Amino acid sequence: MVDIPNTLQRTGVIFVLSAPSGTGKSTLCHSLRQSSDFSFIVSHTTRTPRPGEEDGVDYCFVSREEFESRIAAGAFLEYANVHGNLYGTPKSDVLQHIAAGNDVMLDIDVEGARQIRALEDQEIRSALVDIFIMPPSLEELERRLRKRGTESEEQIATRMQSAGKEIPFWHHYKYTIISESMEEDLLKMRSIIRAERYQTCRLRASNEE
Ligand code: 5GP
Repeated sequence: MVDIPNTLQRTGVIFVLSAPSGTGKSTLCHSLRQSSDFSFIVSHTTRTPRPGEEDGVDYCFVSREEFESRIAAGAFLEYANVHGNLYGTPKSDVLQHIAAGNDVMLDIDVEGARQIRALEDQEIRSALVDIFIMPPSLEELERRLRKRGTESEEQIATRMQSAGKEIPFWHHYKYTIISESMEEDLLKMRSIIRAERYQTCRLRASNEE
């Protein structure tokens, strides 16, 4: 007789999502975090809060000195300078969640994703699933940036320049989604998330040693 495990436990997945600014990544992440069982990881940043943003909720807003002392203490899983400000993911939070079987969704730039991919820690390597959201075209990206109306002409030009530098990194990611409507993008993301959660390598029968 074979033993069929009636309970399977699994380790958590680190979903890393990157996309040029304006692709709709923040809205996508927000919807997924609300609906698909994710643990929240709050990044640290040296940028100043925007109206309506809350410290400890949207980001932990810290001074450059504070950020640098955290870098020196090895507190970040990755960190990067994005549009002139520093952003970093707290390492201990991520490790605790994946060990407990909780998934995290990190919205980070291509440099941060590269740093996580380069880590040698086996636990992190096997937990990592990186996804790139590609704008359908540069024209459409510019149209979406203008439509959201939060950036000046100068900022739009900077974001378009950054997009030109970020897009060539897409082939380093495990998955690439060409952005369509938000509903379509969400469906594709949910398919990836579901499949990754069922990978045998993440599962363990609860009565196993
Ligand atoms: P915003 O300032 O508009 O909230 O974010 C700007 C960019 O910073 C986004 O594209 C986002 O992906 C990136 N970002 C946010 N948090 C982190 C982080 O912890 N690490 C890295 N590398 N990038 C981040």
